[in-house]
Amino acid sequence: MPLYTTDAIVLKSINLGEADKIVTFFTRRYGKIQGVAKGVRRTKSRFGASLEPLTYINLIYFGKEHTNLYKINTSDILEPFNKLKEDFDKLKKSLFICDIVNSTLKELDVNLKIFELFLNTLKIINRAKEIEKVDILLDIFSLRFLSASGFTPKLNNCIYCNKILSFNSTLHTPHSALSERLGFHISKGGVVCRECLNGSEDVVRINSGTINFMKKALTINISNLDRLSMPHKMERELHKIICDYINVHIDRKLKSYNLIDL
Ligand SMILES: [Zn+2]
Repeated sequence: MPLYTTDAIVLKSINLGEADKIVTFFTRRYGKIQGVAKGVRRTKSRFGASLEPLTYINLIYFGKEHTNLYKINTSDILEPFNKLKEDFDKLKKSLFICDIVNSTLKELDVNLKIFELFLNTLKIINRAKEIEKVDILLDIFSLRFLSASGFTPKLNNCIYCNKILSFNSTLHTPHSALSERLGFHISKGGVVCRECLNGSEDVVRINSGTINFMKKALTINISNLDRLSMPHKMERELHKIICDYINVHIDRKLKSYNLIDL
């Protein structure tokens, strides 16, 4: 029977019978898999701690190829993310992104971009000093996640007339300079120019500054995601658009969504 070795992040862990656990992992090399850990609840061990959700581990498991339940051999903690688990706000927000990943990935679906994004986002939440930084990070994570899943929003040209949208407002200009109002078409996933706004359905209003922020959020190195910031008013606008965009494109109501109230 093949033996598999890989880094992984624990997504979910449920008790089975008297002493066992069924654990869902997002592995770097083999995608999402499920395994059973025999006897793990009999003793309080590091093995047990390594199978808690939101733990980054090195995992060895075995089983027939493409089985839906592998046997977990050993698991060593690479990063326990303790600061994230001990803070209720941080934990709640991390479980939100964990839910997006778990409910979207299919078994054995390998996606390195999403793996690195998920791992880096947990690292940033773990070290964050201000919880406000984490709020905006969730929206950036969601945007990058959608992009890595094949739903990159079209932000450079109007989706109807193809006009190039160029505006000079930066994130740090005063509100008056951010007043150019455009549209964002949720189901088509792109911007709508002022001329095409009238009469188009399924379009929400959006500031050009918010679009600029989205462009930066989609291109910045993932280890620097916490360097981006924006005015609170724009943050609410972005959050609303990203929630709608996720609901339309990922096509399921995520359980954690009602937990997130920015
Ligand atoms: Zn147009």
